[in-house]
Amino acid sequence: MQIYNTMSRSKEELITLVPGECKIYVCGPTVYNFIHVGNARPLCVFDVLRRYLTYKGLKVSYVSNVTDIDDRLITAANEQGTTVRALAERFEREYLKDADGLNVLRPTVMPRATEHMAEIIDMITQIIDNGYGYVAPNGDVYFRALKFEAYGKLSHLVLDELENARELSSSMEGGLKEEGADFAVWKAAKPGEPAWDSPWGPGRPGWHIECSVMAKKHLGPTIDIHAGGQDLIFPHHENEIAQSECANKAPFARYWMHNGFLNIDNRKMSKSLGNFKTTREIAQVAGYEPIRYFMLSAHYRSPLNFSMDILEQCKTSLERLYTCRENLDFALNNAGDTGENLLAQQAEEALERFSQRMDDDLNTADALAVLFNLVRDINTLSAASCAAALRRARQVFDTICGVLGLLYNRTKDDVPPEVTQLVAARTRARAEKNWAEADRIRTALDALGYAVEDTASGPKLVHK
Ligand code: AMP
Ligand code: ZN
Repeated sequence: MQIYNTMSRSKEELITLVPGECKIYVCGPTVYNFIHVGNARPLCVFDVLRRYLTYKGLKVSYVSNVTDIDDRLITAANEQGTTVRALAERFEREYLKDADGLNVLRPTVMPRATEHMAEIIDMITQIIDNGYGYVAPNGDVYFRALKFEAYGKLSHLVLDELENARELSSSMEGGLKEEGADFAVWKAAKPGEPAWDSPWGPGRPGWHIECSVMAKKHLGPTIDIHAGGQDLIFPHHENEIAQSECANKAPFARYWMHNGFLNIDNRKMSKSLGNFKTTREIAQVAGYEPIRYFMLSAHYRSPLNFSMDILEQCKTSLERLYTCRENLDFALNNAGDTGENLLAQQAEEALERFSQRMDDDLNTADALAVLFNLVRDINTLSAASCAAALRRARQVFDTICGVLGLLYNRTKDDVPPEVTQLVAARTRARAEKNWAEADRIRTALDALGYAVEDTASGPKLVHK
């Protein structure tokens, strides 16, 4: 599989450190509010990466953290008159509700920053011992960014940009830093803030250090894939590399994957710009599954513009998939050993093409196009196909939808028992030529959201 590596700015063959295994770390949310639709993008696309690598036979360890202490949490807790901990616990629960709704698999490990204080202090000590960290007079600990010669290698920052960053941040930190480009790995506690004891006095970790520490603890010093949104390339991921490589003396991540922005009116959706919609409010109107589909409808590195109209189109596309799946079941119930086998061949080719598209830097947009070609083949060829061909088509269809994590809301098995009973009662009524009763049952089914079509092969249920 080829993956675009932000580090080399090119597609590279994915070769994992340990053959047959893949260690992935994805930066998770700061849990101070409901996640917005932009935050749902990395959730969905890297979930598909995980599912696809698992489908290809790799043992995937997927770590995604929760930032449960930082400035935004402290400010929000103060504003709402609650504690950082209570706020973080509440919005972690809400985050998981949204992630479940989007059919995102739970991470293998979901570490929280506040549960790794001992390891954070160890890594900072290591950084200081290796000459890359220093303690400021107020108890902050800073990282000497420019001492790390490779600083800027991920974001490809040129010296001028670093100079700008230096001027900007030195004016913000009140002269505590040796150099403007230096960044905090530990922040001394201000009155009233949550604090943990450390060799440098009470304080809390800087934002970047938690990811370096939790990646190492749960995946080891060198991981295969590190992922997140493009906004994290600088400074967050650049700083993670500096911290990890200077503390561990080992390469940090072999591949860096970054999803493009989800925009609204062509501007990045973000809480600070105030142009955001929460995943929850959108899901309440449109459902979660169209949001997931929408995220997969573009290549993960392309910008994606959000609108309710596009979500409606996604809903319609999903309906086509559900209908195709129902038609397949129906055709299979009525198929025999004789019939054509062409559909099996088409399904085989679809699976092959699906893998090719996914192997090309996780091209879910083209993978969906392959799926819809298969839908067209199923719709045209099913009636004349033999049972074996239909079974293979169904397997391939389910495999592709499973890797994409789609069609998780309604399956044949979800048809409520009372509906199945009504269909059976209607068939009996028709056999007895009791048309009035058959019509009464049709109306009852209609009220439950089901239409029944009488075909040459028997009654066919359609969910409206
Ligand atoms: P945050 O809680 O702000 O740290 O963001 C959590 C994740 O969402 C990170 O991987 C961000 O890069 C990503 N993210 C934030 N805003 C957007 C956006 N508008 N489009 C795509 N990804 C985003
Ligand atoms: Zn991170």
